[in-house]
Amino acid sequence: MSPGTSLAPAAAATNLEALAAALEAYQPNTAAHPDDHYAFLVCQEALLAARAGNYGVGCLLTDPAGRVIVRGHNQVFQPRFRSDLHAEMVVLNHFEQTCPELTDLSGYQLVVSLEPCPMCLSRILMAGIGVMRYVSPDQGGGMIGNLHALPPSFKTLAGGQVFGQARCSAQLRQLALSLFTQNLAELRERLLQRRPRG
Ligand SMILES: [Zn+2]
Repeated sequence: MSPGTSLAPAAAATNLEALAAALEAYQPNTAAHPDDHYAFLVCQEALLAARAGNYGVGCLLTDPAGRVIVRGHNQVFQPRFRSDLHAEMVVLNHFEQTCPELTDLSGYQLVVSLEPCPMCLSRILMAGIGVMRYVSPDQGGGMIGNLHALPPSFKTLAGGQVFGQARCSAQLRQLALSLFTQNLAELRERLLQRRPRG
């Protein structure tokens, strides 16, 4: 399904449960795909977000030993509207609130189910996370493919960080995208309704 495709609510719910079943049946294969386990976990978070009526995007943060220390998902619409609570922001908010003593984040890695938007990329730059990997590209809103368009001072920050796609299976990549797009048209309309329309 392509971004912007509209589905009736019943069809969208059916589609989401089909995605949930596919995810539940999936077995991560880190021998073939080094980031498969992380990609699987952020898809699980994306499913939680979508089931709650939020954008279906999940995120996690690993420490220098590769341990998952924070997991979270998009909370823009539920439990109440918060325009800033994309999955990356939720995870970084929690991390910075609970680990204020850390000053070297070069060994930390953020994994997101969807390519970060301009807001979240800016946050990742400010936070100084060493590595950021995303599972699915976002043709409509992703900023990693547009790093050249950053203002100069942001480019300077980005020069010390690594950005790239997660090394995961094509099946997980497709699941991550589908979890995002299955209710995208409905949620985009709700965002558009918050502003003047020409
Ligand atoms: Zn974002």
